[in-house]
Amino acid sequence: MSVLVVGSFIVDLVARTERAPQAGETVAGLSFDSYLGGKGANQAVAARRMGADVVMAGCVGGDGYGREFIDLFDREGIPARHVKISAGNKTGCSLVTVETSGQNRICMVAGSNLDYTVEDALSLEPTLKDSRVVITQCEMRAEIADEVAAMCKKHGVKFILNPAPARPLCDLTLSATYVLTPNETELGIIVGRDLKTNADYEQACRTLINKGVQNVVVTLGAAGCLLVNAQTVKYIEGFKVKAVDTVGAGDSFTGSLGALIDEGYSVEDALRVCSAVGALAVQKSGAIPSMPYRRDVEKFIAERSSAN
Ligand code: ADP
Repeated sequence: MSVLVVGSFIVDLVARTERAPQAGETVAGLSFDSYLGGKGANQAVAARRMGADVVMAGCVGGDGYGREFIDLFDREGIPARHVKISAGNKTGCSLVTVETSGQNRICMVAGSNLDYTVEDALSLEPTLKDSRVVITQCEMRAEIADEVAAMCKKHGVKFILNPAPARPLCDLTLSATYVLTPNETELGIIVGRDLKTNADYEQACRTLINKGVQNVVVTLGAAGCLLVNAQTVKYIEGFKVKAVDTVGAGDSFTGSLGALIDEGYSVEDALRVCSAVGALAVQKSGAIPSMPYRRDVEKFIAERSSAN
């Protein structure tokens, strides 16, 4: 079977600087890097590197970055026949400054991601109904996730929603969701409450389960994750590693979860493997460059198991 990812493409243009400029000021930066990313592209690559057949749908701009994404997907073995090119628009982009202190400032322009329309999403129905798993996020027009969720419900396809950036979600979308993967902050925004303790998280997850979400997996950074469904409340501990860059950790986690569910794993069994994927991703810089390959994930788990 296969995993369909309906999602965003964003290029991060990152300047490192001792301090960010004030209004009207120019400062000399320390270094510059550009990274292909966006939650959709990151999660598609994460699922593919875990061995899934992945199809990506979304919209890039008619610029050089759009071509770079198509080339990247070609190299990764992800068919881009459902990736639309918006000739008159630019690919989504984030201008990021990172100060030596670690403080960052980001200006994100969605660009061509907003040219992906409900009609485009609806045209995915034949591909969607032949997929076992569909993953989407909230970096496109809000209606896209809702339409994709409705199609998944109609065809009995497992719908994974990574609700990032978070926004309140409609009941129909929640009731169509097989796995929702917020982090703690996103969970709070979805339920509209300030959450502080584990009991708060569990209660918020139960609210979502009562609305029809089948599984809520809250990612808790280095602490691991929490799974709540109708039968279980379970904490899965994270692997202890030295984190270098946590950008893309959540995307590696959701993408790999999609690949494992496509293979037939239960959500609960998949989560230890997803935690290993996240733990490997945080040990490398960048999002896409840090997405681990299946063989490395298996090696890491085997090493950690034999160490215990
Ligand atoms: P997000 O990037 O969406 O906030 P998290 O930071 O919660 O997501 O990370 C997703 C997953 O990656 C976690 O559930 C965990 O399994 C793994 N992870 C993240 N940070 C670390 C870390 N410092 N050490 C080990 N694993 C980590």
